[in-house]
Amino acid sequence: MAVVGHPVKHSLSPPMHNAAIEALAETDHRFKNWTYYKFDIEPDRLQEALPKFHARGFLGINLTVPHKIIATQFVSIGEKEVELSGACNTLLKSENGYTGFNTDLYGMTQAIETEFSIHLKNREVILLGAGGAARAAAIACAQAGVNKLTLANRTLSKLDTIIESLEKLEDKPTVKTCQLPGNLPFDSDAPLVINATSLGLNPNDPAPADLSQFPSSTLVFDMIYNPAQTTLLKQAEARGMLTANGLGMLVFQGERSLQIWSNTDPSTAIMLKAVRAGLKSF
Ligand code: NAP
Repeated sequence: MAVVGHPVKHSLSPPMHNAAIEALAETDHRFKNWTYYKFDIEPDRLQEALPKFHARGFLGINLTVPHKIIATQFVSIGEKEVELSGACNTLLKSENGYTGFNTDLYGMTQAIETEFSIHLKNREVILLGAGGAARAAAIACAQAGVNKLTLANRTLSKLDTIIESLEKLEDKPTVKTCQLPGNLPFDSDAPLVINATSLGLNPNDPAPADLSQFPSSTLVFDMIYNPAQTTLLKQAEARGMLTANGLGMLVFQGERSLQIWSNTDPSTAIMLKAVRAGLKSF
């Protein structure tokens, strides 16, 4: 397996998956020959790279920034979440190519509900971003029963695709849009703010939004896990808000990727233990 991105050098997926694979190999010999690599590939070379991975026998690929959206053109669709979000982060080798899945939806929902001990159902969410991660997050929010969703992005027109996807769902939240940076609207006592922009990947990046008008009961989830605390999370914590970074999401989406590649459904607890062992080991 491998993670493919540009850049990719700071990805924690290789050490996480390799240690998870080692832990799984103790009880299942199929994992003994598995190894997880990383490759830095520019977006305009992804199309020619995929057949090369296939020819060399790569069973699974994880896609990260900026490949999740463009990759959907080059793979078969493995689940409706890929169609709805227009993005995929997990590819499984098939006879003639790769089949695309999106484990970010599961990863984000599980991470938010576990780390904040909340249910997304009936909550108000303010979602920052309109890239592959934000598209997945918007569909995941709708599937989890979020009732009010504000979509905010620097480039307002990029929100259109997300709105069109949400329109296809039977149960959809009330949607507002907002341009970043700008005053984000909120109605409820404890809204959830999700950062799915890449602003924060550089430790010197400013926060993508100003939360000074939000109540201290606001929950703030940043998908970025490296650096562990972005400017957005620092500012939120200083205002007494509960925060979580993207490490939990990395673990949960990785767990589901491993399930797809191994075609097994080991109990979540076993898989999670293996993936968490992977993260602790470096
Ligand atoms: P992407 O497709 O490249 O989208 C980038 C987003 O960030 C766009 O909305 C873009 O706005 C915005 N952005 C970039 N630079 C900005 C700036 N200077 N000011 C304001 N907005 C800016 O990336 P992605 O795949 O969606 O990933 C987004 C983030 O989520 C990344 O940091 C990634 O590491 C993280 N992520 C984490 C996990 C996890 O497991 N924890 C999983 C998935 C993603 P425009 O549309 O205006 O360009």
